[in-house]
Amino acid sequence: MSDDDGGICPNCGLPTDLCVCETIAQEEARIAVTVERRKWGRLTTCISGFDKNIDIGELATKLKSKLACGGAAKHGQVELQGDHRGVIQGVLAKLGFPEEMVQIDWTFQRRGRR
Ligand SMILES: [Zn+2]
Repeated sequence: MSDDDGGICPNCGLPTDLCVCETIAQEEARIAVTVERRKWGRLTTCISGFDKNIDIGELATKLKSKLACGGAAKHGQVELQGDHRGVIQGVLAKLGFPEEMVQIDWTFQRRGRR
């Protein structure tokens, strides 16, 4: 959860501010967005498919602040509280993940009201 590890990229050996591994990884990623119902009926947006070079902890932090929700990076995916499918493509695009890369699963339907 700290972003002050500024140093050398373990992947390419360049200083992290010169490293493009993450950019390359983003360009190749295929990101899947799904919504699941968790304990107590809470909806969770799960975003998976990130390349392992992507710092999903940092990504989760950015997404949480942009969407003003809770969440965490777990098991290689980002989990956000609530259903953010309507806006997630736009938000991810601003973070460097083009909309065409992001596949949203709309099969889960909310039932009733909260
Ligand atoms: Zn690198």
